[in-house]
Amino acid sequence: MDSRIRQIMSRYFGYQDFKTGQQEIIDHILQSRDTLGVLPTGGGKSLCYQLPALAFPGLTLVISPLIALMKDQVDALNDQGIAASFINSSLPPGELSYRLQQAAQNKYKLLYIAPERLDSSDFIDMISNLSISLIAIDEAHCVSQWGHDFRPSYLNIGNWINAMPYRPVITAFTATATAQVRDDIVALLGLENPGVFVNSFDRPNLYFSIAKGVDRTRFIKNYLKERTEQSGIIYAATRKEVDLLSEQLQAQGYNVGKYHAGLSDEVRKQNQEDFIYDRIQVMVATNAFGLGIDKSNVRFVIHHNMPRHLEAYYQEAGRAGRDGQDAHCILLFHASDIQIQKYLIEQSGFFADKKDMEYAKLQEMIDYCHTTRCLRKYILEYFGETDVPEYCHNCVNCEKHEQKDMTVEAQKIFSCILRMNQSYGSNLVASVLKGSQQKRVLELRFDRLSTYGIMSEYTAPQIVELINLLTAEDYLMVSGGQYPVVKLRKKALPILRSEEKLILRLPKMPEKASEESALFPSLRMLRQQIALAQNIPPYVVFSDKTLQEMCMYLPVNQEDMLNINGVGQVKFERYGEAFLSLIRQYKEDDASFIESQPVSTTKKTLGKKKSAKTEKQPKDMKIPSHILTWQEHKNGKSLREISQERKLGILTIETHLIRAYQEGYTVDWDEFITPEERQQIAAVALQIGTDKLRPIKDALPESISYFAIKIALST
Ligand code: ADP
Ligand code: MG
Ligand code: ZN
Repeated sequence: MDSRIRQIMSRYFGYQDFKTGQQEIIDHILQSRDTLGVLPTGGGKSLCYQLPALAFPGLTLVISPLIALMKDQVDALNDQGIAASFINSSLPPGELSYRLQQAAQNKYKLLYIAPERLDSSDFIDMISNLSISLIAIDEAHCVSQWGHDFRPSYLNIGNWINAMPYRPVITAFTATATAQVRDDIVALLGLENPGVFVNSFDRPNLYFSIAKGVDRTRFIKNYLKERTEQSGIIYAATRKEVDLLSEQLQAQGYNVGKYHAGLSDEVRKQNQEDFIYDRIQVMVATNAFGLGIDKSNVRFVIHHNMPRHLEAYYQEAGRAGRDGQDAHCILLFHASDIQIQKYLIEQSGFFADKKDMEYAKLQEMIDYCHTTRCLRKYILEYFGETDVPEYCHNCVNCEKHEQKDMTVEAQKIFSCILRMNQSYGSNLVASVLKGSQQKRVLELRFDRLSTYGIMSEYTAPQIVELINLLTAEDYLMVSGGQYPVVKLRKKALPILRSEEKLILRLPKMPEKASEESALFPSLRMLRQQIALAQNIPPYVVFSDKTLQEMCMYLPVNQEDMLNINGVGQVKFERYGEAFLSLIRQYKEDDASFIESQPVSTTKKTLGKKKSAKTEKQPKDMKIPSHILTWQEHKNGKSLREISQERKLGILTIETHLIRAYQEGYTVDWDEFITPEERQQIAAVALQIGTDKLRPIKDALPESISYFAIKIALST
């Protein structure tokens, strides 16, 4: 990325990296070439035109279908320090001409308009003297009758562009991937020799689930009971169901709003705004709700009924988790839903071909509700993706059948055992595969084996856990009583020779919602206050994800704060200090925050020979702090004593000990962790990864401390 673009990105948007696909699209646009970008909902299409808009000299005109949402988008841009405005029919005439005047004087970088504006030749005359460098057509599938949101006004866009006295760069964006719709977009908008970028539709943070034949109302009530703080949307098929369900939930004391075409514009607008501004927690709605809604912290989308096709389902479900944080997409299916959808197709007045197509799509939707395959794979293949893994491990079907292809891992383990002459136990095998610097490994010269360190991405206990599993599955056997030795069984040979795959059923994780940091509510409150004062939605100030990163990394100065995703220079200047002071205060009040910090597991090489000699170092030679801790511990002091004497937090002392060990000092960990606990931790870590300690801690019995987890993962 060239440095100017990088600068724009960090100054105005505060993002460190592009999301998948953004960079290719932006690069192409910056070469002044027409571009069609297909990214999933939440994939970050806006940045794809907003960033070039700032890089190009003139004005960028954004055509966006929803008048109601323009204001929010423009507010968000203004809040990032970007000059933007919108023009729609809601403006008084004076305001409209004022804004056009400002635009003519190059006062804006972005101007949003609704496609309906182009129906008026007066309006076209008015904008004809603006110097437009870039046109971005958002939700471009609306131009296609084959899409699911056809808008006749979109058909005017192509004609208008053709009639312009000069030709800006034309870009179009959609989340609809079918080839037919894509071709329509290129043809009807008149894109010239466009670059077409279609990106994976995968949304890894969304968990997909289906519940068949359940009591829907009870299901929803139970679900909400555990999520009193989370924003969510519940889609129902008809207005009647929306009315009924929202009443039932309100009667139970839930903070619920509703939205459907039978309500007045006024009420709908108010409810939508209440939802966006976190004044109501859950929105019960028909599919009339949500197009272009860009609230990033929707934590769940429940479909009370099966929608008509997967395009609609994925678009609606995709409104969850746009901030990239975990979110749930749950479909409640009843056979009666099929009848409703068939009825709607019959009533639609579609011409025959279109009707056939709708029925075919409905069938695919029904199949989705019945499949036992990975739901994500099903969806992605429906949208034409190939080479999708069999299991995503983040959907209800994968959860029930938790299987993983462990062929490569098994091959590594088997060949390591063979190279060690089938004469050692699983711990030593694991140490070799991990690439440990342990004395025993080095003495036996196992660091010269070709299998040394080939599983360094796993922790040693994870590898032991795998060896145990392979033993349980009869690929390995353990013999030798007190000093058990692992050997290969016949069954391992075809795996080793790559003649067969090895699919392992890995232990299932208990489901436990991870709690938020104690700091989070305070940050959220501050955000709410700022939002209120400025009359903008809270997530425009900072997204949940940004707040969560603050909780995780606890920045205390500007530099650290700017490293948080979502905090750019402009936002920092506006809000940075307020959040910093809250975090600083929190850090002072509560030292326990370190518990949520992952310990560094970078492998340290064995330095100079270190031994008891260090104890006799003269005073003026600086002994590293962690080595001092190690010495005192060796001398028999408890960690708590050391912590008190040295006036350092217990967590610091614990970290010292791990660090010393990683540098080659011996530590007897048995004092802090039992082999059983190591196994338990390893099993959990194997399932959910080792990026963050919190989820691991949450999945384990309360008695297992963070320190034990850190030990298990790093020693
Ligand atoms: P789309 O229009 O494709 O559905 P948006 O443009 O509304 O998606 O972006 C979805 C979310 O992703 C927004 O909350 C936005 O702030 C965030 N986002 C976009 N690009 C990035 C990025 N490069 N890094 C982090 N977050 C991003
Ligand atoms: Mg969008
Ligand atoms: Zn899956």
